Amino acid sequence: MTTVTPATTREVTAAIVREKGSFELGTVLMEPPRPDEVVVRVVATGLCHTDLVVRDQVYPVPLPIVLGHEGAGIVESVGSAVTKVAPGDHVALSFLPCGQCRPCLEGSPASCANFNDMNFAGERPDGAHALALSDGDATLRDRFFGQSSFATHAVANVANTVKVRDDAPLELLGPLGCGIQTGAGTVWRALRVGAGASFVVTGAGAVGLSAVMAARVAGATTIIAVDVVPARLELARELGATHAIDGKETDAVAEIRRVTGGGVDYALDTTGLPVLIEQCVEALRQRGVGAILGASLPDAEIKLPANAYMQSCKTLMGVVEGNSVSDLVIPQLIDLHMQGRFPFDRLVRFYDFDQINRAAADAASGTAVKPILRIG
Ligand SMILES: [Zn+2]
Ligand SMILES: [Zn+2]
Repeated sequence: MTTVTPATTREVTAAIVREKGSFELGTVLMEPPRPDEVVVRVVATGLCHTDLVVRDQVYPVPLPIVLGHEGAGIVESVGSAVTKVAPGDHVALSFLPCGQCRPCLEGSPASCANFNDMNFAGERPDGAHALALSDGDATLRDRFFGQSSFATHAVANVANTVKVRDDAPLELLGPLGCGIQTGAGTVWRALRVGAGASFVVTGAGAVGLSAVMAARVAGATTIIAVDVVPARLELARELGATHAIDGKETDAVAEIRRVTGGGVDYALDTTGLPVLIEQCVEALRQRGVGAILGASLPDAEIKLPANAYMQSCKTLMGVVEGNSVSDLVIPQLIDLHMQGRFPFDRLVRFYDFDQINRAAADAASGTAVKPILRIG
């Protein structure tokens, strides 16, 4: 197949964070792709908690910046060295690993030792940018998760571009690249929950509910969701939770012990709140395994009783992006969805691109579990 690469810089529309706290649609200039890059016409992009904490500078990243890291769309052009995808292919975009560090070489690109530099630096590894402001000389930060997909077009790297089947609903697929593969991957690839197991998740947001669906697919027979929003607990039940605990009304640890007959096999905290992480560890059975994956405040610390932790032979692991290999996990999630076994469309609410601030507010308030922006 011949590939046409636009030779010149052109104008595209992007949502720019110029100042902490809000997005503003504007025109930016986009370079042609480098040899290992892919230009994607973005059809839709999910909005993830990580976009909001960066927009709000909880984690200070230089501004102005184009965020967005759950993009899905159609390949428009590819660099000269790209053979994995071709123009016209449907793709979902994911996180960008370095490919050269020890975890990457060992097959765990989500644990990349250079994850922050690759995904949060706001530039390519050599300091160059694919986007620029058309109305000023401030440096526009881009390459967020190797994509910056709050835009009509994204310049991704071949390494974080995942080809997907043409018959899948493309506008739904963006969140598979971050939030949903984080929840599902942690259950399957980090905790390795198996048939007959008991499993608890704290936080029934997009990641937690994805974990519930994944635990059901894995054959777990006791699946407990803990949250404080009754509507989310109800949704958790509909998606496969066998028990739902309102943490405001009930002593969650005591209830988990009662339901599981002494302690749960696997526990996952998606909230990043130290008190809930400590509760997850406490609720584990002897030799139980827990995982954390949520963004905590930069100075957050967790406390564990050293002797009791040792004697109970428990494990607590940190997990990024569900320990996923995106090229494997995203197509698996799509196949399960198409078979009706992973109905993540139940989490989604769609917004037009120019409603991005409304979508962000609804995500922050909990009104929307997983907003998706329709872009093109
Ligand atoms: Zn790496
Ligand atoms: Zn994310």
